Amino acid sequence: MLGQMMNMPLMISSLIRHADNYHGDTEIVSRLPEGGIHRYTYHDAHRRSRQLANALNALGIKRGARIGTLAWNTHRHFEIYFGVSGIGAVCHTINPRLFPEQIAYIVNHAEDEYIFFDITFAALVEALAPQCPRVKGWVALCGRSHLPKTDKIPNLLAYDELVDAHSDAYEWPEFDENTASSLCYTSGTTGNPKGVLYSHRSTLLHAFASALPDGLNLSARDSVLPVVPMFHVNAWGLPYAVALTGAKFVMPGAGLDGASLCELFEQEKVTVSAGVPTIWLGLLQHLQANKLRLSTVKSLIIGGSAAPPAMIRAFDEQYGITVLHAWGMTEMSPLGTVNTYKHKHLALPAAEKDKIRVKQGRPLYGVDMKIVDGDGKPLPHDGKAFGDLLVRGPWITSTYFKSTDSPLADDWFPTGDVATIDADGYMQITDRSKDVIKSGGEWISSIDIENLAIAHPAVMEAAVIGVAHPKWDERPLLLVIKKKDMQVTREEMLAFMRGKIAKWWMPDDVVFVDSLPHTATGKLLKTKLRDEYQGYQLPSA
Ligand code: ADP
Repeated sequence: MLGQMMNMPLMISSLIRHADNYHGDTEIVSRLPEGGIHRYTYHDAHRRSRQLANALNALGIKRGARIGTLAWNTHRHFEIYFGVSGIGAVCHTINPRLFPEQIAYIVNHAEDEYIFFDITFAALVEALAPQCPRVKGWVALCGRSHLPKTDKIPNLLAYDELVDAHSDAYEWPEFDENTASSLCYTSGTTGNPKGVLYSHRSTLLHAFASALPDGLNLSARDSVLPVVPMFHVNAWGLPYAVALTGAKFVMPGAGLDGASLCELFEQEKVTVSAGVPTIWLGLLQHLQANKLRLSTVKSLIIGGSAAPPAMIRAFDEQYGITVLHAWGMTEMSPLGTVNTYKHKHLALPAAEKDKIRVKQGRPLYGVDMKIVDGDGKPLPHDGKAFGDLLVRGPWITSTYFKSTDSPLADDWFPTGDVATIDADGYMQITDRSKDVIKSGGEWISSIDIENLAIAHPAVMEAAVIGVAHPKWDERPLLLVIKKKDMQVTREEMLAFMRGKIAKWWMPDDVVFVDSLPHTATGKLLKTKLRDEYQGYQLPSA
């Protein structure tokens, strides 16, 4: 016997329609790459995405066609999210920080028909256009007056003109909720980037779960500013979750430095923001150096790399801001876990709570996790055993775009992360499996050592890699960037760490460096570091 509820497909267009119907006057604010602040409402965004839908139809875009974007977080990008997916086409967000050859590969692999780009990327587009002959047109995200002055971009259109030329009379179509809605390529630190193809259904379920109190805790009383770019896993799904909840939405454009962010936070009374740890380290320094306070921010969502405990503590104790430590990946839409306490934890002493909050958190409903050993045998959830982390759920990918090989192991997706899971379900990443340091047959967690090093007041950033050792196979080497005008010696660094981690985890050497290499999504590029320090002579070797 079937239930008797209405059978309505979960459509992305229903989010923006809901936001218009019930939060129509709630503001959407953007700092524009061409300068100035743009301010309008969900009602306006819905109208413009319907105009865009008509424009796309007039350009001949069919269901399933891929539309690329090379764009910052702005209201126009927001409209594209809903306009493109709404007509049944696929919104393909591209990371402009990748190498041009990688971008050309991605555009050609995805077979993007049009690319919408911010005018700050005009030079990049000039270089890309000859390498992407199948793209039918390039749409600059501006009005006619800001159109880049170039003859090197074929079929160049102005976005505002394109949208304004069409009526807003448009009914969003309904179709199978499993239809592809958006596409995002992983940065591919090894090999070519791989495409992850989300659906309307996966996007809506992810938005529901992420808005929950033990998720990102979003409501109509929030003003949400994603620093995480809309070209990086759909800004962690926030554009959908704010439409679902009716939160005010503030987009920072290209201004991601501490000063620009602080200004926007205060001006737009931002309550929730989200980004990678390097962004928040920059903000923290700006606040401390200028003796500033943030008067409305209540939580910062931090993910993408491990949030250093020293930073979590600083935001909490000095600024009264809760850090929501989250973990996920492109293949997971991206949210897997968020760290919040349970009722029984509330009365714990601060030191005990500290031990919980450095972890990556508990899975949201919808995500199932397990850890396994080298033979695929499940390991206990005791907070001690660590192994390969596998996940499954309705917003986790089952394969890659146009790939015929399944990445799954017995229907579970291998994350490539190594982790522990404790009895309460809190997961803690110890490493990427590629980055794990193997010393004398045992594994050493580079993240634990980095977290400890960064707690030293003179340390700006730290990376730990394994270096070949004749006796132990590999031993940890600590690379440190010092804060400006701060001093610390190798011996002081080691003395600071001694006693705080197992003796055999202590780095064999410390090297002070001016910079560390990062991926296009802001993660430490350890493959490059390992190449650079290959053959490094450890004092103990
Ligand atoms: P890409 O795979 O393109 O580099 P992703 O954002 O998909 O970008 O990266 C996912 C990976 O980032 C995870 O598998 C994990 O290794 C790392 N990561 C994400 N969040 C955290 C976190 N809170 N702590 C530690 N590592 C994290």
